[in-house]
Amino acid sequence: MTTMLDSYAAVTSKDVIRHLQQLAEPLKDKTVVHVNSTRFGGGVAEILDKLVPLSRELGIDTRWEVITGDSEFYQCTKSMHNAIQGNRIAISDKLLAHFQEVNEQNANQLRAILEEADFVFIHDPQPVALLKYCSNRKGKWIWRCHIDASHPHRGTWRFIHRFVREYDASIFSLPQFVQMLPHPAYIIPPSIDPLSDKNIDLTQNEIEEVRMRFGIESDTPMIAQISRFDRFKDPLGVIEAYKLAKQFIPTLQLVLAGGEATDDPEGEAVLNEVRFAAGDDPNIKILLLPPDAHRTINALQRLADIVVQKSTKEGFGLTVTEALWKGKPVIGGDTGGIRLQVINFHTGFLVNTPEGAALRIRYLFKQTQKMQEMGAKAKDFVRENFLLTRQLREHLTLMVSLQHGGVDRIELS
Ligand code: UDP
Repeated sequence: MTTMLDSYAAVTSKDVIRHLQQLAEPLKDKTVVHVNSTRFGGGVAEILDKLVPLSRELGIDTRWEVITGDSEFYQCTKSMHNAIQGNRIAISDKLLAHFQEVNEQNANQLRAILEEADFVFIHDPQPVALLKYCSNRKGKWIWRCHIDASHPHRGTWRFIHRFVREYDASIFSLPQFVQMLPHPAYIIPPSIDPLSDKNIDLTQNEIEEVRMRFGIESDTPMIAQISRFDRFKDPLGVIEAYKLAKQFIPTLQLVLAGGEATDDPEGEAVLNEVRFAAGDDPNIKILLLPPDAHRTINALQRLADIVVQKSTKEGFGLTVTEALWKGKPVIGGDTGGIRLQVINFHTGFLVNTPEGAALRIRYLFKQTQKMQEMGAKAKDFVRENFLLTRQLREHLTLMVSLQHGGVDRIELS
């Protein structure tokens, strides 16, 4: 029977899996619990969905618990999420009190498991206060912040800080997101799952079916941006870059694919502006996709010669990772997590303006050999740095290191 580890060995390497096994060895008698607030939907659930069974396969007793709450609680945690990402709106004391009550109720349910566990990973702010209600904890507690906490709303951060400071460590995705805390902060960037529908290899037939479904011309230069219709993703800048590049590449096609924006008034406004800017150009395809269109997105990323992600702000940019994994050079906005992934002349180009993006598009279509080389490097770069196995390796390393306290050197057998 093929195990998950075998499948990952096939896309990474046997060495990667052996390294995981080596790091897992000292953790084999340990119990690990991950806690978040949803089992489906969103990046955290997607990561845990694979990370937890993978670490179980490595012999570590790993569980995933999900807290529950009412609508008032989620209203509070949504505001908290926005406030951590910089929204300047204070949350009422009443909501904050309710937030603590819900955490206490969940702690009452989970206390036995959490207090006994050797390692507890608490994901994002929703369950952050559980620790306060687990005063007899035995193990190490780690707060994993998945969001951009570089400029949080001060009042909200002060509230969260009261809980986070009691943890043994925290994890942020990028160094810029780290806040002052009285414990070690680790940097662990996100990752993609190479075996998910979004990233798995597709047959040429399936890719062709998607091309024909959307009326995309074959053997014609194509660029694509896959993103929510959001101002920070700068779709208007992408259209401007396309129009400039088209002066030199008359057959150029642009695909802008994003989700349907019916429940997001801002998204709908941006989409209208995008439609207006695109006018009646038949070579611009604006695609509205359902939330589960993973294989379609996968195929669109494979159909494109170059993927653009011209964001003006970006936490990490999973769309960039996804595109690089498909061997596509990425022309990305010079911001946030895109800078970690797009290395000029190697995996793509960082740009600040539509003119800059157009110049790089023109360059790559002129230097097709370079385009191929960069695509190959892009894929290797993701294989080395941004696959799920790397994220698991860093989690294991973090646990081994916490287990050994402040020791400088740890020998693994
Ligand atoms: N995505 C999607 N459908 C869309 C647009 C985006 O499934 O219509 C996916 C995309 O493939 C990526 C994620 O949503 O996996 C977006 O993550 P990213 O970090 O790029 O940006 P965010 O939307 O979180 O700001």
